[in-house]
This record gives sequence, structure tokens and C-alpha cells, in this order.
Amino acid sequence: MSTTPVAPIKCAHMACTCMAPAGKKYCSTHCEDAKKLTTLACHCGHPGCDEKAAA
Ligand SMILES: [Zn+2]
Ligand SMILES: [Zn+2]
Repeated sequence: MSTTPVAPIKCAHMACTCMAPAGKKYCSTHCEDAKKLTTLACHCGHPGCDEKAAA
């Protein structure tokens, strides 16, 4: 057994349900840029997260 790597955490974006890469707070630059916006939907484009926005 090796040292446990940094566990992925959920994207810090309030409306995002994606997992952020280890060491990152957001799943994508989109979410990081949107952190200052009040939004009820995530538009990062990741499958399962952007369903309502997909058109
Ligand atoms: Zn998302
Ligand atoms: Zn995100």
C-alpha cells in the first residue's frame, strides 16, 4: 500500500456536481471563472452536470 494520493473533491462551484482533479478546487476553468457569479446551473459541459443547459 502506498501513500494515499490527494482525494478528488467535488468542484467548489455551488451548482456543479463534478469532481475536481486532485489539488484543484474546480473541475474546470469555467467553474473557477464562474465562482464570482451567482448561478443556479453549471455550464462546465461535463456529462451529467450540464444536462439542463444542453440544447
Ligand atoms: Zn459542472
Ligand atoms: Zn465544476
